[in-house]
Amino acid sequence: MNYGLQRSFFIIIFAYFLLPSVVEAKLNTRNVILITLDGLRWQEVFAGADSALIFNKSFTKDSDKIVNRFWDDDENRRRQKLMPFFWSTIADHGQLVGNVQKGSSVELKNPYWFSYPGYSEILVGYVDSTRNSNARENNPNITVLEYIHNQPGFKGKVAAFCSWDVFDYIINEERAGFIVNSGMEKFEEAYGSQKAKLLNKLVFQVPVPWGSVRYDAFTYQYAFDYLQRHKPRLLYIAFDETDEYAHEGKYGQYLNAANALDGFIQNIWEWTQRDYRYKNKTTLIITTDHGRGQDPIDYWRHHGSDIAGAEKVWLAVLGPDTPALGETENLETLYSSQIAKTISTLLGVEYTNKKALGNVIEGMIHD
Ligand SMILES: [Zn+2]
Repeated sequence: MNYGLQRSFFIIIFAYFLLPSVVEAKLNTRNVILITLDGLRWQEVFAGADSALIFNKSFTKDSDKIVNRFWDDDENRRRQKLMPFFWSTIADHGQLVGNVQKGSSVELKNPYWFSYPGYSEILVGYVDSTRNSNARENNPNITVLEYIHNQPGFKGKVAAFCSWDVFDYIINEERAGFIVNSGMEKFEEAYGSQKAKLLNKLVFQVPVPWGSVRYDAFTYQYAFDYLQRHKPRLLYIAFDETDEYAHEGKYGQYLNAANALDGFIQNIWEWTQRDYRYKNKTTLIITTDHGRGQDPIDYWRHHGSDIAGAEKVWLAVLGPDTPALGETENLETLYSSQIAKTISTLLGVEYTNKKALGNVIEGMIHD
């Protein structure tokens, strides 16, 4: 070994031992995109279409077409058909947690197992037992979104786009100080884009079956347009259709909605990986506000504290600081209340609140 080689050898060894502390001191994540898919079961995320429901004519009216689209006898191929982005990019480069069949659970800490308490738990990071109704009532708790918005470097860099109008109250838009665009609401700004102006018309021109919920495609388009033009560092997108179709007992439409959401998420992610502000600096976190029942068969439509299994949720993470473990197995149970602290840690913010917060999920962040 000549001197030059020897020298570079020692530099490499030295750098290797330095590495862990450097990584610990600074994460790569500069931006977080949090996305929720209301009431989408872990059963479909991890096993694709459910045979008990897809072949049942009372739940899947257009059964032949839906079976053709989403059925495969092989569970792995079936889930790929339903959520191709989850089971390619996220499975290869990120983490998918919550396959109960493989000993990996994510659960709600709150005992109610419906939307407002579920979202409050995710966004605040602890359970407030007064958040036990879906009423349009302002959340007295500060969310991690609001907390981060008040930190240096985040003013005007936090935004939320939500299909369900109750998010104005869960996030407490009045107090929060950042954009919360929810439900049947236009997105208006002084020099708005042509796209947003068209969406503002269409959202009221396309008839919606649900009073206070808009189609997820509108939420996606509004959020994506905002992301591209305003470059938020913390963006929250809350989709809803999966829960609506499940309550209505329309399994085919529930599957179609889940598949469309997977595609929206793919488009957003692929855009971030083409933009220098986001590429290799963005962590994507996807979860749900509650599970749903399984047995007896009709219970898939429902959730709430009297529906066994509705406390089981799931979590998908993809980003530059997250070890690529893929689908996790035999992991200790994680809780939705841990998501807020995980988001703040990824963004380098020390998040505190008036009650004890769920711990950061360390397995999702390299050390
Ligand atoms: Zn519901």
